[in-house]
Amino acid sequence: MNLIKLLSPRLANQIAAGEVVERPASVVKEVLENSLDAGATKLDIDVDNGGIKRIRVRDNGCGIGKDDLPLALSRHATSKIYDLDDLEAVATLGFRGEALASISSVARLALTSNTQASGQGWQACAEGRDMETEVAPAAHPQGTTVEVRDLFFNTPARRKFLRTEKTEFNRIDDVVKRISLSRFDVGVTLNHNQRAIYNMRAADSQAERERRVAQVCGPAFMQNALHIDIERAGLRLWGWVALPAFSRSQADLQYFYVNGRSIRDKLVTHAVRQAYQDILYHGRHPAFVLYLELDPAVVDVNVHPTKHEVRFRDGRLVHDFLFRSLHHALADVKPADQMPSSQ
Ligand code: ADP
Ligand code: MG
Repeated sequence: MNLIKLLSPRLANQIAAGEVVERPASVVKEVLENSLDAGATKLDIDVDNGGIKRIRVRDNGCGIGKDDLPLALSRHATSKIYDLDDLEAVATLGFRGEALASISSVARLALTSNTQASGQGWQACAEGRDMETEVAPAAHPQGTTVEVRDLFFNTPARRKFLRTEKTEFNRIDDVVKRISLSRFDVGVTLNHNQRAIYNMRAADSQAERERRVAQVCGPAFMQNALHIDIERAGLRLWGWVALPAFSRSQADLQYFYVNGRSIRDKLVTHAVRQAYQDILYHGRHPAFVLYLELDPAVVDVNVHPTKHEVRFRDGRLVHDFLFRSLHHALADVKPADQMPSSQ
């Protein structure tokens, strides 16, 4: 008698969903990343009840063809990489082909899309069942709308871990902020329970970019920020770092991007801390919006399913570059000589 059996696709997806889909904010992150990968320049996000009840993202990207719609919902199906070489230097935010399959295994998902070639919209729906997706005609302009309702409706154990609507919405807000600072050239709107939270137009000029940073990080950050742009040996670091007069009691205003991907990384945090060491009071945290650009081949983004972490091929080189660049930029700045005025 065989004791070992293959998991059903549904159960396999639900297990994978445990890694990728932790809460409504993770759905928003995955769906927005797909829109950016599709070349969208406009992201319209509507969420209800902290995203628990409904998340809808509409983009104006390349769209998904009729025949690709069921595939988009299948696990390990992606249009972004085809072989190992692609993975070694992946330029898109997604590549695992898991997000939509995972989401549709734990929620009610409707994927509506229209490509330039088809000239007609199509919709595929999946409701936490095995992957026999039906595709029906639907009106839609070029681009894609993903609607996710009733997250974890079929996985009560997961649903129990959801927090209040307010908390879940705050997480979504954080994801949207991170995304909107990753791509100034993309317009972003966010509504919660039909109330407008953001309406950010694509920012072309430096002044418009700074306006967006001020909107996301608050005007006080921008007033106290130093703009930097440093390039050396194939590495570029640019963005805004707050002067010591604007420090935080928590590490809550720290945005760091590696090749456009928002990440949290120990090595990065350490390098930044060190650069601020002599000019910040003990227990205070620096605020920054920083972009590191380097050859995609020297950084591995396939470390964790949520892709929040990266691995640098030469960690010491990156650490050194970050520390020196920031240290140099902050060199003329005197230590905070008054009690910090910010929170
Ligand atoms: P991945 O992003 O890793 O490829 P996903 O499950 O997130 O996996 O998406 C599967 C596929 O569906 C993508 O590779 C892409 O071809 C397609 N897709 C998903 N969302 C969009 C979108 N908004 N616009 C165009 N294509 C999309
Ligand atoms: Mg994806």
